[in-house]
Amino acid sequence: TQRLAGKTAFITAAGQGMGRAAALAFAEEGAQVWATDINADALSTLDHPRIRTRVLDVRNSAEVALAAADIGAISVLFNCAGFVHNGNILQCSEDDWDFSVDLNLSSMFRVTRAFLPAMLEHGGGSIINMASMASSLKGFPNRFVYGTTKAGVIGFTKAVAADFVKQGIRSNCICPGTVDTPSLRGRIASAADPVQAEKDFIARQPMGRLATVDDISPLLVYLASDESKFVTGAALSVDGGVTI
Ligand code: NAD
Repeated sequence: TQRLAGKTAFITAAGQGMGRAAALAFAEEGAQVWATDINADALSTLDHPRIRTRVLDVRNSAEVALAAADIGAISVLFNCAGFVHNGNILQCSEDDWDFSVDLNLSSMFRVTRAFLPAMLEHGGGSIINMASMASSLKGFPNRFVYGTTKAGVIGFTKAVAADFVKQGIRSNCICPGTVDTPSLRGRIASAADPVQAEKDFIARQPMGRLATVDDISPLLVYLASDESKFVTGAALSVDGGVTI
């Protein structure tokens, strides 16, 4: 039987990477999926009878409010959008800071605040937020504002979990290791020495390889499904042993 039959899922940043893989995995498990992204071209290649797409910039409050009003009640909200700024504090301008805080953290506030009332009216649901091993779990070089925002995601996740635990809302986040996605390939390609950069990314993974999106999707399906009904406020690592 399909593990997400009867559920409606809303996903941000579903055009590529882990968000896209989650959209396809949720749909395969029977969910009706709203796959959203700022990139219309990326969305247009998502082809599944249970996936509907919608262009959405999670930094735009008016667009987010309109999406929530149009779509109404959902049972699963996956806040996936985020951006990796490369650099330490001295290499992070105020604009860099504001951009990353807004995209990685404020967007989750915006989207969750917009969708939560209808979720509550319909008896609850599962909120899944994208954090990272680079967060309060562990510091990494050149992940200054990134790690700061992802630590914020863990706090955000627990705060929402605490406030709505008695009303059927579960709020969890996942903390992946290094995942082979288009943006990771971009970070490798833009390094001074791309061959060495790829080796370095692999070297920091104790299992000796990068994760694929298929290493991550099963955890997302689990959190979206009722199998995880006793799980809330958790920051679940899926990092191939980096934070052992
Ligand atoms: P990705 O970075 O390759 O793709 C990100 C997607 O986000 C793109 O489709 C892009 O169009 C979309 N996007 C960008 N700005 C947006 C906006 N304002 N509104 C809506 N969509 C927007 O995918 P990924 O690497 O799987 O990353 C997804 C999430 O996972 C991010 O939050 C990232 O920080 C996090 N993460 C990634 C890794 C990794 O190693 N790849 C590890 C841990 C956590």
